[in-house]
Amino acid sequence: GKGAAMVTAVAFRLANQNADRQHILDTLRLSREQLLEVKRRFSEEMTRGLSKQTHKQASIKMLPTYVRSTPDGSEHGDFLALDLGGSSFRVLLVRVRSGTKRSVDMQQKIYSIPQEIMQGTGEELFNHIVDCIADFLEYMGMKGASLPLGFTFSFPCDQTKLDEGILLKWTKGFKASGCEGKDVVALLKEAVRSRGEFDLNFVAVVNDTVGTMMTCGYEDPKCEVGLIVGTGTNACYMEEMHNIELVEGDNGRMCVNVEWGAFGENGELEEFCTEFDRLVDACSNYPGKQRYEKMISGMYLGEIVRNVLLDFTAKGLLFRGKVSERLKTRGIFETKFLSQIESDRLAMRQVRSILQHLGLTGSTCDDSVLVKEVCSVVARRAAQLSGAGLAAVVDKIRQNRNLNQLSITVGVDGTLYKTHPHFSAVMQETLRDLAPQCEVTFLKSEDGSGKGAALITAVACRVKNEGQQ
Ligand code: BGC
Ligand code: MG
Repeated sequence: GKGAAMVTAVAFRLANQNADRQHILDTLRLSREQLLEVKRRFSEEMTRGLSKQTHKQASIKMLPTYVRSTPDGSEHGDFLALDLGGSSFRVLLVRVRSGTKRSVDMQQKIYSIPQEIMQGTGEELFNHIVDCIADFLEYMGMKGASLPLGFTFSFPCDQTKLDEGILLKWTKGFKASGCEGKDVVALLKEAVRSRGEFDLNFVAVVNDTVGTMMTCGYEDPKCEVGLIVGTGTNACYMEEMHNIELVEGDNGRMCVNVEWGAFGENGELEEFCTEFDRLVDACSNYPGKQRYEKMISGMYLGEIVRNVLLDFTAKGLLFRGKVSERLKTRGIFETKFLSQIESDRLAMRQVRSILQHLGLTGSTCDDSVLVKEVCSVVARRAAQLSGAGLAAVVDKIRQNRNLNQLSITVGVDGTLYKTHPHFSAVMQETLRDLAPQCEVTFLKSEDGSGKGAALITAVACRVKNEGQQ
């Protein structure tokens, strides 16, 4: 009768809605063939980045770092390290001991960088940094000591030597004016000089990936790759000098900062992108830039999820079709919520309470299930994409060495990698699938940015002293 027809109609509508949801989610799912294609394009772009002729046009810049030797354990001394590139700024005093007492001890202070300074003038930014350094030296009672200093500066920099870094462009949340195209060491030196209170002895500018590789290399000599999946994402690895056309000399190896976040700036990811990625890109600080990073790192995943949820809601497929003010707010979905929502120990009712905390009240149990699925699909794609890039990197190292099978360690850092319940497993599974001839071990780095900068400085001082003897 009429009742049965109505039930059928409702069932039909629900089935349709489910199909609609899955269609949308399918655009965020990548097939094995697609991932292989990402790896292939990534490899091609790495080669183009290394070659003098194509370097300028290449999206992946493959920047020489002038880091050539890894620590051998004989380094020692006290060093200062600065770490800029995440959400805060750190100053560290690092004590490196050699011999039987071989160890690295650190004392640090963390300083916040207000949004208006991140996006103000370069002068304000560097003056603020020098204020923090002054505070730290005061606090440690060492204003007179001019210790060798390593500066972890986690942005793309052109280097022609270890203690110089020309900022190519800001990434992540930074947008301070007047810095791009300038040597950040010179900018910092100038800020120190104009304050006129103390001197600093700059030895090295270091990318966080390189610091991470070095820190893990201190424990495991097989560590020749560094990886960050945090606010931003990037990798570095040991490349053969003869392949690095931008640097004279053919002997030995040098660490190359891949700057892989920029992959896709030549349209390489266009067919794998969704409307949500395009929206996140368009509303970002740098439209058109860091396209790979925008599909992978912590700063953007929450925004992708939010845009999917908005679309679902607008189509009446979620939250009973009611778009809340909260959901319209940029940045409400922090990485930590993504990690929490996907935690396997979490019951649906806890997902609901996270949603409530986000101001998404009135959600049903079905809503929670769907939100969790969106988070899962977005994070899975990010992990797979980073796995595809990593597969290209390790396969390149394997081919460089003419090996049938390569065994290598990757040093990793970054909150998304470390706190997300599935990210690392999915990334490793993808890597095994796409680079079956490489046996890759992952080593989590303990504070690679701070420790690594000090170790690189220590190695540079050791090499310099050896040269003088
Ligand atoms: C920067 C890289 C950095 C990465 C991780 C990216 O946005 O361009 O230099 O290594 O973030 O911090
Ligand atoms: Mg060369």
